[in-house]
Amino acid sequence: MISVDGANELVGIATRLDEVRRRIAEAARQAGRAPGSVKLIAVSKGKPAEAIRIAHGAGQLDFGENYAQELSDKAQALGDLPRIVWHAIGRLQRNKAKVVTQVAEVVHALDRAELAVELDRRAASLGRVLRVLVEVNVGGEAAKGGCTPAEVGRLLDATRACANLRPIGLMTIAPYLDDPGAVRPYFAALRALRDEHGGEVELPELSMGMSHDFEVAIAEGATWVRVGTAIFGSRAQGVQ
Ligand SMILES: *Cc1c(COP(=O)(O)O)cnc(C)c1O
Repeated sequence: MISVDGANELVGIATRLDEVRRRIAEAARQAGRAPGSVKLIAVSKGKPAEAIRIAHGAGQLDFGENYAQELSDKAQALGDLPRIVWHAIGRLQRNKAKVVTQVAEVVHALDRAELAVELDRRAASLGRVLRVLVEVNVGGEAAKGGCTPAEVGRLLDATRACANLRPIGLMTIAPYLDDPGAVRPYFAALRALRDEHGGEVELPELSMGMSHDFEVAIAEGATWVRVGTAIFGSRAQGVQ
């Protein structure tokens, strides 16, 4: 059953998705980049499977989820949707590596070598190669996941040593600041780290930018933006 509020929220999804796409294309154009160089990942945590179905119907293929069980449940409920791609974007406990590896094609929050080893082991047992991004806590915020900038090189080396993991880029969650322009240095820092550790050839993807700041992230080179509330509406309290 979907409540009246829930139903109202579903009605606007396709329209809001179009608006976000338009803003992404415009931000890319302003930055002198091709509109197609930025991929939108629709972050659906805390939202019903029906919301994802609607977005998929409007042409959205990439979806991000934070919680392993929710990701798994939704992937099962939506197994009929062609070409859907699941991104595990949240902090990941080692004991959730199995369920995530079963459904996600990309893990965005690789932040320690033990997790790389476990994901690799699970991917190997499924006979697949998992694409991963190293999450960096560029803001140095205690409450956030991610390795320190100084740990990136070692973590990339550990990941490259895993036969069933393929590191494809870096990810960050910028501090939340009222003025989105003020987070620009954090996005620039992630790009600089990428350039220091192999550049675009080795690490083509920069996963950065959310509803509040994706345009700034695109100006600084984001290739993947993770957008939730601007598409699906605000989340219930407690869903971070
Ligand atoms: C929730 C979340 C998002 C999306 O946030 P919005 O502000 O709703 O766009 C993106 N990335 C991560 C890692 C998240 O946890």
